[in-house]
Amino acid sequence: MPSEPNYKAELVGVFGHPVAENPTIVMQEAAFQTLGLNWRYLTIEVYPDDLADAFKGLRAMNFQGINLTIPHKVEVLKFLDEVAADAQLMGAVNTVRREGQRLIGENTDGKGFLRSLREDAGLDPQGKKVVILGAGGAARAITVELALAGATHLTIVNRSPRRGHELVALLNEKTPTQAVFTPWDQPYAVPPETDILVNATSIGLFPNVNDKPDLIYDSITSRLTVCDVIPNPPQTPFLQEAAARGAKTLDGLGMLVYQGAIGFKMWTGLDAPVTVMRQALAQAFNRG
Ligand code: NDP
Repeated sequence: MPSEPNYKAELVGVFGHPVAENPTIVMQEAAFQTLGLNWRYLTIEVYPDDLADAFKGLRAMNFQGINLTIPHKVEVLKFLDEVAADAQLMGAVNTVRREGQRLIGENTDGKGFLRSLREDAGLDPQGKKVVILGAGGAARAITVELALAGATHLTIVNRSPRRGHELVALLNEKTPTQAVFTPWDQPYAVPPETDILVNATSIGLFPNVNDKPDLIYDSITSRLTVCDVIPNPPQTPFLQEAAARGAKTLDGLGMLVYQGAIGFKMWTGLDAPVTVMRQALAQAFNRG
């Protein structure tokens, strides 16, 4: 017997403002097509004052989930039925999934970083000493997940002392790691006992592609794994300097792909085709 037709699309997407340059649609749509799923990823402009109404709409239209980007990652907490423990610690949600009628907040940024560290760099953070440049949203997500994954020492290096101290207090109070703050008011020398160095600032992001963090680059040695969160362009001057000194490097494109892949699995229940997603994004960035 021929099966009943089913023309219904399952909806996911991103709420943001401004949102037009958010590239996530490229990798999620590539994944839906590869797996033959009748799912759509919509890039939706939502002004800050309209987030409550947008969530009513999302519930009314039975969206399967949504991503949140600037400026909604913190505000969204008000509109959820539950928030995962790590996202609660970070105080920010970038992915919402549904269980029946319940909307659950998650944060996949730090998880994407960890998966890239484990799978692309082959490194487990358990017992490691990590230096993080930055104390913004990306740094919060990465440090909380590193701490929960067993990194023993985290040094937060940040330009604004207030944000740096806040993050260190959070990590020391709420996770088993030992965190310290270092003000970033002169070129930073990476301590020799460091295992992993992460640029979690926006320095080097397109269009400022020649900028690099203010470091004493000769303090980078071949024992370090050096990571950047900047996905576009993936080969940042920071990573090039590190590679020239023999360090292993990890680009931000992997983190972006894996955080999307984790969201894809939360929504569809299926393993994401990460190679296809990575190729689709790399191609889109090359065109940009
Ligand atoms: P935030 O605005 O929350 O934080 C920015 C951070 O960068 C702050 O620590 C800020 O320091 C620091 N910073 C910016 N400019 C300078 C500068 N010139 N000198 C020193 N420090 C500087 O941004 P996010 O944390 O949300 O995002 C940071 C980057 O991470 C972005 O480029 C984003 O694209 C990337 N990202 C990548 C993801 C991926 O999947 N690859 C996922 C999420 C983010 P201060 O506190 O002093 O202002």
